[in-house]
Amino acid sequence: MMLAAPLFTDTRLEEIHRRLLAYYGRPPERDLWDPLKQFIYSMLSSRTKTEISLEVIGHLEERFGSWENLRDASIPEIEDAIRVVTFPEPKAINLKTALEEITRRCGSLSLEFLKGYRTDKIRSWLERFDGVGVKTSAAVVNFSTLRRRAMCVDSHHLRVTQRLGFVGRSADARETERRLMEMAPVKWAPEMLDEHHSLIKIHGQQICAKNHPRCGACPLLDLCPAGAGEERASG
Ligand code: SF4
Repeated sequence: MMLAAPLFTDTRLEEIHRRLLAYYGRPPERDLWDPLKQFIYSMLSSRTKTEISLEVIGHLEERFGSWENLRDASIPEIEDAIRVVTFPEPKAINLKTALEEITRRCGSLSLEFLKGYRTDKIRSWLERFDGVGVKTSAAVVNFSTLRRRAMCVDSHHLRVTQRLGFVGRSADARETERRLMEMAPVKWAPEMLDEHHSLIKIHGQQICAKNHPRCGACPLLDLCPAGAGEERASG
């Protein structure tokens, strides 16, 4: 039996992308890291500012010289090295445990073997580790040299998507990513999904802020139910 074609194509994500690109310009090109470095970075970066996370990953490389040395360091030493990120203690424990587990399962400390896996299998393989959720697995597959299709939903992306009404206010990152990937054009390559993530993140940082969104200055105002409400309240 032939499936009926959809009555309309949802082009809202494309329109949002176009407007944010015109408003903010093209985000800086990403320096692609290997999957292990991206995994370590993403484990440490949750609820931490990007500048601090970048500083910490550079500091870890300098201080330990290799990821094997980081893995073999004591938890207090790792905790000390990452003390400027949020929740350094559980992150140090989770990171050391994950690095040891990767070595035990794979025979060496590398995630290069993931290149031979399907994207969904990579993600479920990564999400088995404590401290690794859907956001980290999406970052590893999309931002690293793996370069697969995924949408990394961080706190900015979650908030903006909720305000735009694409998901409910209680939606989590997994549900939000699923919805956004339904809306994203199939022609969007991994690089485009990465660019979209970066644009929404910039928007969340600069205009659609957590406490005081500046809806009057927002290029998405006419598409946004939350923004329309804000405007009515202040008008
Ligand atoms: S209109 Fe307001 S709430 Fe909506 S996306 Fe823009 S800043 Fe955010």
